[in-house]
Amino acid sequence: MKKLVIATHNPGKLKEFRTFLAPLGYEVTSSGELGLPEPAETAPDFVGNARIKAVAAAKASGLPALGDDSGLCVSALNGQPGVYSSRYAGDDYPGAFAKIIAAAEAKNDWEAWFTCALCLAQPDGTTGTYIGEAFGRIAPAPRGENGFGYDPIFIPNGYEQSYAELGPEKDKISHRARAFEQIGAVLADAEKPRSRLHIKP
Ligand code: IMP
Repeated sequence: MKKLVIATHNPGKLKEFRTFLAPLGYEVTSSGELGLPEPAETAPDFVGNARIKAVAAAKASGLPALGDDSGLCVSALNGQPGVYSSRYAGDDYPGAFAKIIAAAEAKNDWEAWFTCALCLAQPDGTTGTYIGEAFGRIAPAPRGENGFGYDPIFIPNGYEQSYAELGPEKDKISHRARAFEQIGAVLADAEKPRSRLHIKP
């Protein structure tokens, strides 16, 4: 069976990747499950951090690895917290929700979007990177019990429910699903997954 490491220690992301990969016949594990260290996310952008995570996991495991870097960009905060989404919340998501809602209210600007960069890396360090985005608005109050992170305060365009209220529907329309749509074809085709965009290390 083809093997793939998901370069994450985030159980919410891993659950979504397992859903996306289920039809493709992969034995999936994660850098968290393998006990691999989390590399420092030192890049200033999503693509750079996805690449750091994927390359570290592929080199340490000797297997192809998929790295994800993602975050919520809020118009009223000039696109922040963006790549700093995880650090912005720390372990206080309700506090982060309150700050974001207050900023949106103060500027009467509720626009927001999620971005996901996915990087597929081989153990030899070659990589290919793919991006997905989902546009929407900040909810005036957190809603819903599903998902993780900022899901309760993000309402995607075309819906009245937050990501956290959408449940499995989120996996059809999310930023991560859109990035995965591109990489899914690469993973489905190859015996040993090779990305279309090769970048030599
Ligand atoms: P990182 O990519 O591990 O640096 O963390 C991304 C952070 O962005 C997560 O910890 C969440 O706070 C947020 N995030 C990314 N994707 C999602 C999502 O699908 N729903 C909610 N929050 C997300």
